[in-house]
Amino acid sequence: MPAEFKNEPITDFSKPANAQKQRAALAEVQKKLGKKYPLLINGKKVNTDDVLVSRNPANVDEVIGSFSKADTTLAEKALQAALKSFETWKTVAPKKRVDVLFKAAKIMRRRRYEINAWMIKEVGKNYTEADADTAEAIDFLEFYGREMLRLAAPQPIVPVPGEKNGLTYIPLGVGLVIPPWNFPFAIMAGMTCASLVSGNTVLLKPSSDSPMMAWLLMEILEEAGLPAGIVNFIPGPGASVGDYLVAHPKIRYISFTGSMEVGLRINEVAAKKADGQIWIKRVIAEMGGKDSMIIDEGVDVDEAVKGTLAAAFGFQGQKCSACSRVIVHANIYDRFVEKLIEEGKKLPVGNPDDNVYMGPVINEKSMKSILAYIETAKKEKGKVVVGGARADGNGWFVQPTIITNVKPNDTIAQEEIFGPVLAVIKAKDFDAAMKIANNTMFGLTGAVYSTKRAHLERAREEFHCGNLYLNRKCTGALVGAHPFGGFNMSGTDSKAGGRDYLLLFTQGKLVSEKL
Ligand code: NAD
Repeated sequence: MPAEFKNEPITDFSKPANAQKQRAALAEVQKKLGKKYPLLINGKKVNTDDVLVSRNPANVDEVIGSFSKADTTLAEKALQAALKSFETWKTVAPKKRVDVLFKAAKIMRRRRYEINAWMIKEVGKNYTEADADTAEAIDFLEFYGREMLRLAAPQPIVPVPGEKNGLTYIPLGVGLVIPPWNFPFAIMAGMTCASLVSGNTVLLKPSSDSPMMAWLLMEILEEAGLPAGIVNFIPGPGASVGDYLVAHPKIRYISFTGSMEVGLRINEVAAKKADGQIWIKRVIAEMGGKDSMIIDEGVDVDEAVKGTLAAAFGFQGQKCSACSRVIVHANIYDRFVEKLIEEGKKLPVGNPDDNVYMGPVINEKSMKSILAYIETAKKEKGKVVVGGARADGNGWFVQPTIITNVKPNDTIAQEEIFGPVLAVIKAKDFDAAMKIANNTMFGLTGAVYSTKRAHLERAREEFHCGNLYLNRKCTGALVGAHPFGGFNMSGTDSKAGGRDYLLLFTQGKLVSEKL
């Protein structure tokens, strides 16, 4: 049996030696930029003329790599390969599948600074954010490996005299894995490895903004001994290749993490039975959020401001769990907002190569959408008290932005912005704050800072979100400790990194034999 699961520690970059190692890895990666990468179908490299180009959002002249693009013909080829490999992979003993994950986790530890470096370049994370992402990927592999061993062991069922009964968890079939770019290594690796350790075979369609991170996983899985054809790498446009595969009768399940709009579309397309389809497709859809932190009267303002800023502006606010609304009790409002503005103005923006706290947002479309939300907020009488505009640099930089005078039903209080914009909402008392916190269609994360036990207990009962944090920030879920997933339009509450997760990738088979 493997040792008890423990979260992978995060590297301390305040130590000069660690920061130096990260800079050295960045220099190495710099030499490897701009290469061309193929699709991987049944382990074979397939090159196409049509490519998608991944660029550094902090320096748009820098090309991370060009990736061959799947069309529907290649997607079909990959699907046929995955169908074929499922016939053998499903018979491989769970322990052997688990070994692949444990070996892959070891390789990730060995290549940690290099993986971080690619991530810093491809999506603009600072050193610590990138390192936490890589650590989370390692955690997912270690955790799901142990979970598979638990599910493969004899399951407790009620004994019946005269019968031998057994419940086993068997795989589903071919899964389509569609990850987002914002945790480009952890979420992508978690969804893919949960699939394969459960005995499924995979079509991995990475986000067009972070294909390199998925390519790295393919290299790692190969080195870890995963046979060809179990995971097929098929970058391509979501709208065409994605739709084609989601609608395909041979796809058994779709594991999706991304926006509400795309998640709902996938759910709709997948629900329709295609000719020749003999199952109800399973859709695991983790989607967006509009996450609130409540700041009650009587709390330590410095602590609450620190938590709010970290949750709102870590990775430029591009986390599904990010605090995008802070709801502040009227009795503490002035003091809290004054400190929030003072500290918010100090947040540095710059190139993540140099480990600046805030880097760019992911692409031009995203930047424009964020700036448009700021304009909408102004039209709705919001008051921009920090930032509010593009920041300097050869990329998609947006200033950390704080907007006060936001009303609970304003656009920026309701729609997911997915960028460095924090709406501040005043509540007349805790009652009102709780009502505001629950007034969106989402329900992913939330947090409450309070010194009052009764208020914390009330939040425990009434704050309707998948991940609620008391007296701490609403980002930074740890695998195993904080199983992650949201309610309502935030998704199917899959609880990634929890004991329920692999059940979504398996089906229980009961065999009862009369003795
Ligand atoms: P997105 O919805 O734009 O894209 C997600 C993935 O879907 C990408 O790989 C994309 O190529 C693909 N896609 C696009 N159209 C498709 C289609 N028609 N069919 C199939 N696939 C299609 O999201 P994003 O910008 O990559 O990620 C940000 C979003 O993800 C935010 O809304 C964020 O809140 C959410 N997110 C949620 C969680 C969670 O656990 N709930 C975690 C991370 C991110």
